[in-house]
Amino acid sequence: MEYKTNIGLEVHIELLTKEKMFCSCKASFGDIENTNVCPVCLGLPGALPVPNKKAIELAIKTGLATNCTIDRKIIFDRKNYFYKDLPKGYQITQFFKPICKNGYINLENKKINIKEIHIEEDAGKIGKSSPIDYNRAGVPLLELVTEPDFENANEVIEFLNLLKEILMFCDVSDCKIQEGSMRVDINLSVRKENESLGKRTEIKNVGSFKSIKNAIDFETKRHISLLKEGNKINIETRRFDENINETLFMRNKETISDYCYFKEIDISPINISKDFINSIKNNMPILPNEKREIYKNKYDLNKNEINAILCCKNINNLFETLIKNIDNKKEVANLIAINLFKIVNENNLDIEKFNFNINYIENLLKLFLVNKISRDTYKDVFYEIIINDIEPISFIEKHNLYLTTDINFIESTILKVLEENKKSIIDYKAGKEKSFKYLIGQCMKSLKGKCDVNIIKDLLLKNIN
Ligand SMILES: [Zn+2]
Repeated sequence: MEYKTNIGLEVHIELLTKEKMFCSCKASFGDIENTNVCPVCLGLPGALPVPNKKAIELAIKTGLATNCTIDRKIIFDRKNYFYKDLPKGYQITQFFKPICKNGYINLENKKINIKEIHIEEDAGKIGKSSPIDYNRAGVPLLELVTEPDFENANEVIEFLNLLKEILMFCDVSDCKIQEGSMRVDINLSVRKENESLGKRTEIKNVGSFKSIKNAIDFETKRHISLLKEGNKINIETRRFDENINETLFMRNKETISDYCYFKEIDISPINISKDFINSIKNNMPILPNEKREIYKNKYDLNKNEINAILCCKNINNLFETLIKNIDNKKEVANLIAINLFKIVNENNLDIEKFNFNINYIENLLKLFLVNKISRDTYKDVFYEIIINDIEPISFIEKHNLYLTTDINFIESTILKVLEENKKSIIDYKAGKEKSFKYLIGQCMKSLKGKCDVNIIKDLLLKNIN
């Protein structure tokens, strides 16, 4: 009997707002512990929350970018539970009426339905120098909940990459999974084909895409082996241990009634005007899936090149700026997908923070595309630009790296090479293609690589025949 897996995600996304969700404390990462706090986010008696308009705008933007319907009446609720990182004893969230509903994201071969996206506030976290750091308490979050439409880890990773692209290009979040600005909970169940959904377990807060894949693979196998042995699945919350690549029991799953949800009485309902939504609609950036279509159909780029130039905003900006003045878009994409990523990986650069001198790169590309420099020089000088911020034109002049255009000089060099390699000429004429390549190599060597290989080929053929 075949088993089927169903996976749904709950993705928590920290919003890129300057201020917290219900007070004007700074919502930044990595500040000195417990410095961004006030009576509101510490939950002191009498302090009243005031919703952050920018956070609501970003929630609507995310809903529009993921094909959701937007609820124009915003109501907040309280989720009550006691934990030391939650100073008020409840979290303000949207339980009864999420701001965005019924959206979707299209994967390459499948549609993943988004049940809802709602706004909530983050909790504090265990501090390094104090028991709890409340800087994070009250930071605005979106929680995006999908239907259990995924069947395997690959679909989940594809979805998360697309979601990350959308959120980054819309300036909603930086989606740094390592810094916790994107956190993923996985709900997974297994069933026999033709049966309804099985009992699910939840894996909390998995810390990287690689771990998400491993956690799903492990948990799927665990469910199947339990079912095969005739055991029941216990509905529970588990965590993923990256060291042993296994999920482990954390606690029995809370039910909705454990949280005693009720309306947040300190915040009146907010009516969102059509104009406000329209102004967000009119200022939406070109979304990554639209860019994907253009790159594929208009520029004829392959998947690898497209993924590379959509990996983050500044790489995409580099590409988009370069192609304004360079027609050969394939060569620009290639430079980024192959040469740039090689340098970035070898030197452990943080690509998202990297500052490119786009002018330098453009000047170099132009020289290469009009055959003024060889491919090797192009690669080497590109490395110098990225690592040492070298200005390419004066560097090429200083090191005399331009290809030679003196045809008489090239031809006399080639004649000399032919004179010294008569055996290769005979071999080539007898049908050995390799000998021709050898002759090209010898000419390149004599010309110190400073000649266009096509010119060498033409002159070789002319003189051999
Ligand atoms: Zn505050």
